[in-house]
Amino acid sequence: MTAAMTAAMTAAMTAAMTAAHEAGQETAAPEAGQKHGKQKHEKQKHEKLKHEKLKHEKQKHEKQKQEKQKHEKHAIPDFDGARFCRHCNARIPLALFPKDKRRYVCRQHAWQHIKKPHKARVAADARRALLFKQWQRCYADAKTFQHARIGVTQEDLARLLAAAGLEDPTAMAAVPRDPGRVLSNDNAVVVPNEARKKLLRTRRRQGSEAYTTALAHIGATCAT
Ligand SMILES: [Zn+2]
Repeated sequence: MTAAMTAAMTAAMTAAMTAAHEAGQETAAPEAGQKHGKQKHEKQKHEKLKHEKLKHEKQKHEKQKQEKQKHEKHAIPDFDGARFCRHCNARIPLALFPKDKRRYVCRQHAWQHIKKPHKARVAADARRALLFKQWQRCYADAKTFQHARIGVTQEDLARLLAAAGLEDPTAMAAVPRDPGRVLSNDNAVVVPNEARKKLLRTRRRQGSEAYTTALAHIGATCAT
C-alpha cells in the first residue's frame, strides 16, 4: 500500500463521516422544533387547567358560603337559655348541651346515642382483630407440628380462650394437647404466650415426646 493510497482512503472516509454527521443533524433539527412546539402546547394546557381549577374552587367556596347562610337563617335560635333536644323531645337548659358544637342532642343523649355505641364498636373491632391474630398464629404454628391445617375456626378459638377464663386474653395462646393431631376443639390447651414459645421450641428441637412432657409440666389451665 502506497502513502498516496492511504491518504486518499483517509480523505474519503473523512468525507463520508462528515456527510453522515450533517445528515444526522438535518434530521435532528425538525425534531427539536416539534419538541419545542409540544412544550409550548403542554404549557398552555397546564395554564388552562390551573385556571379551571381556580374557577372551580371559587365556585365551591361560594356554594359553601350560601349553604352556611341558609343554615343560619333556618336554625332555631337558643332563646330563654334553652334548646330543643330531639331525644328528650323537649326544650331543656343550654347547660345540658355539649359546648363544642351546636347540636340538637343533649350531653346525656349524645353519650347514649353517639359516643357509647361508637366506643362499643371500637372495642368490638379490637377484639376481632386480636382474635384474627391469635387464629393466624395457631395456623402458623401448625407448620411446627407438621400439620397441613388447623381444626378450629376463629369462633372456636374465641370459645376456647373464653373457656380458659383468664383475665387477659391477649396473653394467651391455644396449642394442641396431642402434637400428633391437628389443633381442634377437643385437642387444645390454652397456655400463656411465653409457654407457647417454649413449647414450640421444644417440639422443633426435641420432638413430640419432649413437647408432651413439657406440656404436662406446665400444668396450665386446660380447655377441652
Ligand atoms: Zn336529651
